[in-house]
Amino acid sequence: MALISCPECNAEISNQANACPKCAYPIKNSSAKVKVTEVQFTKKKLKIHRTIALTMFYLGLFSLPLMSILEGNGYGDSYFILLLSILWIILPISIIYLLILRILIWWNHA
Ligand SMILES: [Zn+2]
Repeated sequence: MALISCPECNAEISNQANACPKCAYPIKNSSAKVKVTEVQFTKKKLKIHRTIALTMFYLGLFSLPLMSILEGNGYGDSYFILLLSILWIILPISIIYLLILRILIWWNHA
């Protein structure tokens, strides 16, 4: 427990107090609650990004064997190949995406 001065009336109060006993200025909970919400929001956002990145990664990963199967079956000129080629390009992008996310997660925890 430490003593801090109230930002409203400058009275010496405990940092454990929820509000200043003199002027009822909220001390602890206001800032703590904001911080928790911020962390949860960041986690949720990162989770969504991770899901997108992983979906891209697997789409790209599966495009290669699919491409060779289609080429082997004589569909080499079809639009499927064009589509799968795009997915194949997505693969390195998704790897970079995942790496950036990993750095962001590390950054938030540091
Ligand atoms: Zn006060």
